[in-house]
Amino acid sequence: MKHKRPFVFINAAMSADGKISTYERRQIRISSDADMRRVDELRAGADAIMVGIGTVLADNPSLTMKSGEKNPIRIVVDSMARTPVDAEIISRKGSPTIIAVSKSAPPKRVEALRGKAEIITVGDRQVSLPELLSELKSRGINRLMVEGGATLNWGLISERLVDEIYVYIGNMIIGGKDAPTLVDGLGFTKPVKLDLLSIEKLDDGVLVKWCVL
Ligand code: NAP
Repeated sequence: MKHKRPFVFINAAMSADGKISTYERRQIRISSDADMRRVDELRAGADAIMVGIGTVLADNPSLTMKSGEKNPIRIVVDSMARTPVDAEIISRKGSPTIIAVSKSAPPKRVEALRGKAEIITVGDRQVSLPELLSELKSRGINRLMVEGGATLNWGLISERLVDEIYVYIGNMIIGGKDAPTLVDGLGFTKPVKLDLLSIEKLDDGVLVKWCVL
């Protein structure tokens, strides 16, 4: 049976060569000022923002809004409860944080996070994304923004759980065969097709919007 789920869109910034950070997995500013403002507006219109544990460990984002308006719920996809207890995503106040873990997560780590964040347990060894989205929908989350990274994007797209993808392409080359791209994971033998929704010049970069077919 198909799970009921929120409308899901991925938003990312990538270099002209498709990289979303450096080979050291060091965060790099790709977005222009106008793009940063656009991302803030997108966040404000979402019920929740989701990131993978790789992004939390690499970038330590708070995912709070600069404009100080309504802050969407923050969600970390983290099978083994590796989120540090002092991570910005839970310590920076602004909105509730949900950490989605699997049944294999060490109980001690889960307990350390409980109280600081709400825990949702879905999946045996890895977080089951279809089950998680179904659970989020049942909690009234209708519009979910995904802010990466490469592996979570792959997990969601390969499970056919993404409706739209928005990418700001910055005027730079990052390079590196080990640098994360928009979508990593195993890769498809039969590509997922996209329908071009719009293309817009923004500062020195380009904003492209696609619908996933
Ligand atoms: P990620 O996609 O943020 O997180 C991946 C992790 O999520 C997996 O390793 C896995 O760890 C967990 N996960 C749990 N269930 C999953 C599932 N069903 N499918 C997929 N993943 C699942 O990490 P990443 O690929 O290393 O990307 C991080 C990099 O992306 C950083 O360098 C960051 O700077 C960059 N980034 C760039 C942008 C941008 O727009 N430019 C945005 C975000 C991030 P467990 O098995 O431990 O759960």
